[in-house]
Amino acid sequence: MRPPALNPLFASLRSLPGIGPKLAALFARLLVRDGETPRVADLLFHMPTGFVDRRNRPKLSEVVPDTVATVAVTIERHRPPPPNRPRAPYNITASDDTNTLTITYFNARKDYLEKLLPEGALRYVSGTVTLYDGHLQMLHPDRVVDEAGLAKLPPIDPIYPLTEGVHPNSLRKAIDAALERVPDLPEWQDAGWRERNGFPGFADALRAVHRPAAPEDLDPQNAAWSRLAYDELLAGQLALALLRGHRRKRPGRGSAAEGRLRARIAAALPYSLTPSQARAVGDIIADLAQPNRMLRLLHGDVGSGKTVVALLAAATVIEAGRQAAFMAPTEILARQHYATIAPLAAAAGIRLAILTGRERGRERPDILSALAAGDIDLLVGTHALFQDDVVFHDLALAIVDEQHRFGVHQRLALTRKGEAVDLLVLTATPIPRTLVLTYFGDMDVSELREKPAGRQKIDTRALPLDRLAEVIEAVKRALDDGRRVYWVCPLVEESETSDLAAAEERHTELNKRFGDIVALVHGQMRAADKDRAMARFAEGSARILVATTVIEVGVDVPEASVMVIEHAERFGLAQLHQLRGRIGRGSELSTCLLLYKAPLGPTAKARLAILRETDDGFRIAEEDLRLRGEGDVLGTRQSGLPGFRLARLEVHGKLLNAAREDAKLMLNRDPKLNTPRGMALRQLLYLFARDEAIRLLGAG
Ligand code: ADP
Ligand code: MG
Repeated sequence: MRPPALNPLFASLRSLPGIGPKLAALFARLLVRDGETPRVADLLFHMPTGFVDRRNRPKLSEVVPDTVATVAVTIERHRPPPPNRPRAPYNITASDDTNTLTITYFNARKDYLEKLLPEGALRYVSGTVTLYDGHLQMLHPDRVVDEAGLAKLPPIDPIYPLTEGVHPNSLRKAIDAALERVPDLPEWQDAGWRERNGFPGFADALRAVHRPAAPEDLDPQNAAWSRLAYDELLAGQLALALLRGHRRKRPGRGSAAEGRLRARIAAALPYSLTPSQARAVGDIIADLAQPNRMLRLLHGDVGSGKTVVALLAAATVIEAGRQAAFMAPTEILARQHYATIAPLAAAAGIRLAILTGRERGRERPDILSALAAGDIDLLVGTHALFQDDVVFHDLALAIVDEQHRFGVHQRLALTRKGEAVDLLVLTATPIPRTLVLTYFGDMDVSELREKPAGRQKIDTRALPLDRLAEVIEAVKRALDDGRRVYWVCPLVEESETSDLAAAEERHTELNKRFGDIVALVHGQMRAADKDRAMARFAEGSARILVATTVIEVGVDVPEASVMVIEHAERFGLAQLHQLRGRIGRGSELSTCLLLYKAPLGPTAKARLAILRETDDGFRIAEEDLRLRGEGDVLGTRQSGLPGFRLARLEVHGKLLNAAREDAKLMLNRDPKLNTPRGMALRQLLYLFARDEAIRLLGAG
């Protein structure tokens, strides 16, 4: 039950003066998603994107054309359009003692304008002044007031995003009316926290951003806006924490193992685990041993060594006599995981199989019956693992690699193939930490912070495409030194075919120059041909691999130490980072050449500069966020994940951690949200439509 105190904020817009069905429908388009009905709160959460400074009061002779100014003028004469040309402009001449100004309207009613701007009267008009034919003109002033109205004119006028048919004035009026409805609500933020940050109360913060007294009030970094952003972030983190607590309580089955299989795998590894790999394995073993279900994200940059952590997790449930599934997003990756794991599995006595769309004929039923009988311990595969006829004997752990390529229901489908299946998700998407918390906040997170020892920084350079001949010579020298080269071809937006054509053409050219050591791999190739090309490159009979972005994810050929990326300006920052992560995996120094088409735009230039500067995926992710804005990083705008209304992660990202800690602490102290602050937090959850989480409180 929603607390009644919130009712005024949840009232329909029609309850506000001056809003009828037509305007309400227009506002719906502006404020909420299709099919939703906007409430008063939605108006209040509609944030300005800029402002007009109406304190600027020049004389007409001082007006700077194309800026917004408020001028005091005497209305001289109305010049309505002639009766036979009603569409012609309605001009009004006005002046002060320095110059004249033409105020122009289209499609305006004469009687209305005569009342608004009576001849001989003094009026303050505010709007954009332009220079037309050497004369000052103001087309459709934003504001026209008399002396009394001037006193009420807001000095700083916020500018809001609009939609067709909504006039700024009607939006402004509606927001003003909504502000009047803001009730006195109990404070849900911690008092000490508020004080340290100088945050105003909720209602005051809303008033400050909608009725700013100074331009600073509209700075998202300022206290008022930050307070509101924190409210929104806190609501989100609290809801996620409640969800996580609830999921944890769903019974799982403990898979305890003393670590016999893990020890055998470790002994077979040519390296020892990095500290963060060891920590992640520790986290996972602890989760698996508990009777609660595991829901854990293993987040690590490309090349940070997630596969072996996943294998050690699988070994744990296998030692407990149960099964594991390891799902990859592409055929190439599934095969690669299989190839990496096979020798280690053999050393540990783990029975391993692979199942993809390509295991057909006799092979498939054999695999399926062995799986159902429990004669396979670990099954690696692609989407094929979801199919109905894939039945496990006792699936305990589902490992999903690169999960953003799978939908949530797919990941659920896999966990339904067993009883209380634990889930481990691997991702190399360089998600800024801020977004990890936002989108994966219902999961526990293990992070692989450091790269395996011995990795060297990749020497990254940017060159214009017209220096291609030099690049080819550099490749020649690299080949002479026995190195292997990835050559990534441009991503062409318009069509896959031209994408392909570019790669094929480059392949032909390089083939002419270097002979039979050039292989080609692209998305439209038959799977078997793809494998063959990859295998040739991995074993070294091919030394240049020309590829479209199919190599982006996961491929591991440590001997490859040169990468050329054509038209690097067409790739996103995260994607370039992923691509570059294919090299720099061995002990020798690697080189990445980013070929771009000159001239570079400012964003592309910034992207390439960041890549040259750092190969820290987390830093790159933060920069990517800054350059693109939050919605794009995970493609969330398309996927329909709720974005933020008040928080701007580029600005308020820092608050997210605090919100998460705050939520955690609060739920430790008051798990049912029954204390006074807890009750206030319930209101916050309602306010930001997170009230589904409140039901979980009752579900104990
Ligand atoms: P990713 O996290 O991108 O999936 P992989 O699991 O493919 O990374 O590992 C990348 C490479 O690093 C592989 O060649 C793997 O054998 C190697 N590797 C993994 N862990 C270590 C380690 N602790 N020390 C050295 N090399 C390692
Ligand atoms: Mg991987």
